[in-house]
Amino acid sequence: MQLEKQKENIQSGEAAPVSGLYRNDHEHANERDFWIGKDQRLPSCPICGKAAAFTLEQQVEHISRDADFS
Ligand SMILES: [Zn+2]
Repeated sequence: MQLEKQKENIQSGEAAPVSGLYRNDHEHANERDFWIGKDQRLPSCPICGKAAAFTLEQQVEHISRDADFS
């Protein structure tokens, strides 16, 4: 493994790079933490429709036969 823990910032509408718990600090968010699966798009604000910035809080490892281990 050569991955480093990094805070990644992802915007609404972008696909999650990994499965995990994402936190957003949007002003209207009544839920701050979202479980998002890999390649799922992060939601935008249901109230104002604006994009929110999400930060990966906790990556969740999925054992998948499709993952390209090397
Ligand atoms: Zn909003």
